Amino acid sequence: MEAVVKQFPERSGIEADDRPDRAEAEAAVRTLLRWMGEDPTREGLLETPARVVKAYGELFGGYAQDAADVLGRTFEDVSGYEDMVLVKDIDFHSHCEHHMVPIIGKAHVAYVPNGRVLGLSKIARLVDIYGRRLQTQESMTAQIADAMQRLLQPAGVAVMIEAEHLCMSMRGIRSRDATTITTAFNGQFKTDKELTRRFMKLSGQSS
Ligand SMILES: [Zn+2]
Repeated sequence: MEAVVKQFPERSGIEADDRPDRAEAEAAVRTLLRWMGEDPTREGLLETPARVVKAYGELFGGYAQDAADVLGRTFEDVSGYEDMVLVKDIDFHSHCEHHMVPIIGKAHVAYVPNGRVLGLSKIARLVDIYGRRLQTQESMTAQIADAMQRLLQPAGVAVMIEAEHLCMSMRGIRSRDATTITTAFNGQFKTDKELTRRFMKLSGQSS
């Protein structure tokens, strides 16, 4: 399993040496506050740069995490179970890479075991890792499917994400409450239409 992991190193942002330190990040927040017309020295905003940087550390903590750490060495053998395993309605928060504004949604992740299954909480953690990075919904969908495929090597993987992009609803580009749906299918989900139909139905999408 380790050899497989090493063949596919994760891109987890820039090297630590190139990263600005906390003081530089807080100064950047102060710059943005002044740019938007605020006074960073007024009392209510004094602690804001430190709070924003701390919050970003949590919201974008996915760069410091690797899917292999979550999915690796957690497999359990299953004998006989060969049907789809579906974990649906995994709530996640992310941020769009174009505006750094929240994406709020649900992920539905299914796979057909190839002799091994994951602890169910692992899939939610996988979604969380990719959510805590700057994303497009399309990339996030593909990244989850790809990580499942290479680390678990199942007979098939299906991922569906339905999400609201606040950069659209808050900025009035599209109608409020518009939901974007993206899907990724690998293996049996590409070839077995009935399996895919069941996945869509169980995930709440009639087809
Ligand atoms: Zn956006």
